[in-house]
Amino acid sequence: LIELKGVAKSFRAADGTARSVLEKVDFELKEGEIVALLGKSGSGKSTLLRIIAGLIPSDTGKVAYRDRPIYGPVAGIAMVFQSFALFPWLTVQQNVELGLEAQGVPADERETRADAVLELIGLAGFGGALPRELSGGMKQRVGIARALVTNPDVLLMDEAFSALDVLTGETLRNDMLELWDEDRIPTKGILIVSHNIEEAVMMSDRIIMLSSDPGCIRCEVKIDLPRPRNVDSPEVRALIDEV
Ligand code: ATP
Ligand code: MG
Repeated sequence: LIELKGVAKSFRAADGTARSVLEKVDFELKEGEIVALLGKSGSGKSTLLRIIAGLIPSDTGKVAYRDRPIYGPVAGIAMVFQSFALFPWLTVQQNVELGLEAQGVPADERETRADAVLELIGLAGFGGALPRELSGGMKQRVGIARALVTNPDVLLMDEAFSALDVLTGETLRNDMLELWDEDRIPTKGILIVSHNIEEAVMMSDRIIMLSSDPGCIRCEVKIDLPRPRNVDSPEVRALIDEV
């Protein structure tokens, strides 16, 4: 689905010097996979995700979606943000429909699709609410609905659960996994960025680590456990220790 080869990115600091964030990143997201990307704060996880989402360009290297180079935001790729990134003056329904407006989908179809996805994510009846009337978990459900309404092939989730309390985060990530495992969303591949090793082990089929200085993919752990997984099972505990 997604292929990165030799991707590098540096930013210019305030004093004018260039600071290299990513160097020679090779990565592939294959069809049917959930991959978790772990790495310290500042290692470039969000930068990598933004490059894949077409929000910022890489300096060098190949970045491709289904063998086509990514030059900007792509219709098949959607992103969920840690801070929800909802427009506070728009209703839940309007926030969700935004992604479709950009794609030129007509108003009546936007409404039907937004309704369906709000129902799917457990927010049926909340279309008219404003974000400030919702709990954190519900706000992130809106963020996920806004991504899913576009029927994305690839879903990028940047610390999507870390602004939530533990229980809310767990519930939401289990709901997401259920939609994925039961094929109730058309998404073919998910890349999650996380600080949380337990979350990575519980959700993904494969964990990769982004090391800082230089920012490249260091190691890889495959997780061959069926979902749903029990966080207290010896297999899961062993993997958490290994990572
Ligand atoms: P965190 O876990 O804290 O979210 P991260 O791994 O997502 O961190 P990035 O946000 O990708 O890290 O940032 C990597 C480095 O690049 C940081 O040092 C950051 O300051 C720098 N950086 C990111 N975006 C920019 C920018 N637009 N201009 C300048 N520097 C940037
Ligand atoms: Mg980040």
